[in-house]
Order: sequence, then C-alpha cells, then structure tokens
Amino acid sequence: TATLYVVATPIGNVTDITLRALHLLALSDVVACEDTRKTGALLQRFGLSKQTIAAHQHNEREVADKIVERLRGGQRVALVSDAGTPAVSDPGARIVDAVRAAGLNVVPLPGPSAAITALSASGLVNDRFHFVGFLPAKSKQRESALALLARETSTLVFYEAPHRIVECVEGLVSAFEPVRQVVFARELSKMFEEIHRCPLSEALAWVKADQHRERGEFVVLVEGAVLETDAQDVEAERILQILLTECS
Ligand code: SAM
Repeated sequence: TATLYVVATPIGNVTDITLRALHLLALSDVVACEDTRKTGALLQRFGLSKQTIAAHQHNEREVADKIVERLRGGQRVALVSDAGTPAVSDPGARIVDAVRAAGLNVVPLPGPSAAITALSASGLVNDRFHFVGFLPAKSKQRESALALLARETSTLVFYEAPHRIVECVEGLVSAFEPVRQVVFARELSKMFEEIHRCPLSEALAWVKADQHRERGEFVVLVEGAVLETDAQDVEAERILQILLTECS
C-alpha cells in the first residue's frame, strides 16, 4: 500500500537524525516540508538531493490533496517539518488526516521532539504531563488560557517563541503559585544549551539576567499544582501511618 512517512528531524544538532530517517529520505521520491530551503540544506548535509514541495500552515489543505494523488500514483512521500516531529505544534496534521481518510498508510519515524527532550532532563514529575504548546500571543487570551491551567496537577509543558519569553514568564508568574518549580530548557542540543530549574518566584530574574536568553528557543516546564485536597490527603495518610505504627 501507498505510504506517507512522517519523519522527525533534529531540533538543533544535525547528528541527531536517525539512520532510519536518512534511509527513508534517500528512498523517497519527494519530501514535503515547511520550508524548502531549510529542508534542502538538511538533505544536502547528508548528500541527498530530492524534490521538495512546500507544505506549510497556509497551503496544507491543497498540498494534502496533491500528496494523496502522488501516493496513489505509487510515489514514496516523506513529510518533515523545520525541526523536530512534524504535526506536533507544526504543520502536518491535515496532511496525515487526508492520507488516512483516503485509506492510505501513515508510518511515523520516531525522532527528536523538543517537549520530550526537555521533559527528560527536567527532573519534574513526568509520568503525567500536559502539553500546552504555544500560548496565545495576545495577553488577554494568554491570561485566560493560563487561568484554565492553574489547577492542573500534571507537569505543564509550554513552547515559546524566542521574542516572547519575557511575556510568557510574566504570565506564568501571575497565574501560578510562586513556589512552583519551573524548568527552562533552552537551545536544546545546540552549542548554548541551558537547562535551568528554579522556583517561579526567581524565573523572571533568570531570564533577564542574560540578554542572550531572550533570543534562544525555549521549552518551559512548570511543576503541576498541588491542590488543597491533595495536601489534605497526604496529611490524612501521614496520621494514619502514625496510628498504625502506634497500634502495632
Ligand atoms: N515539532 C517540533 C517538535 O517536535 O519539537 C516543535 C516545533 S515548534 C514550531 C518550535 C518550538 O519548539 C520552539 O519555539 C521551542 O519552543 C521548541 N523548540 C524547538 N527546538 C528547540 C530547541 N532546540 N531547544 C528548545 N526548544 C526548542
């Protein structure tokens, strides 16, 4: 059956490309990508010269139909984004949806994703996390989005564009308790990678301490909320344990 391959690519360090991704890209007839120049450069880096077609936010629907046609015509199509896993806070979902709706196969090739990479180095609770991705750019909408998350007990995972990191942190500081831990995962797998953990009360000072910080790419993670009832449960459990020990 005709198959669309969804191929994750590096989020910084090019050597994070997987062997399977290289093999598949080499075999593909066409590579659908967000930015043909960026993907062209990546392919060239590995000695590959492939036809690329642009598949971005603004033309995804039309391109989806073209990709279905190509797959039906027997072509092997790879889908990539500028960095990381396609269709995760990136274009691709509509294409995947159209291909599946046409009864064709979709095979994902696992690889880098900024959220999972950041989570793995955060030391925060990671068996339950809530991926928020990008917050709205407008401050009112951002505030409401954060207000809805205030009682979320899972670790929160945000993506942020470099020029908006200060507003993002200001929003977090006013929405969440200052004692909650925050982890900044900046420039992952790149030369100036930084992973910094501090209470939310110190977060703004950290971002502002170095001008370069307002330029890098960030994943921001925030420790989940500890709800009153949880705290009461913990206390009840503690007392029960004392009583059980006393009685035994
Ligand atoms: N699909 C991608 C993925 O799976 O990671 C995410 C693409 S999204 C458009 C770009 C955002 O991902 C950035 O604004 C930043 O929040 C995060 N990001 C991408 N590369 C990163 C890196 N090297 N270090 C830290 N964050 C990164």
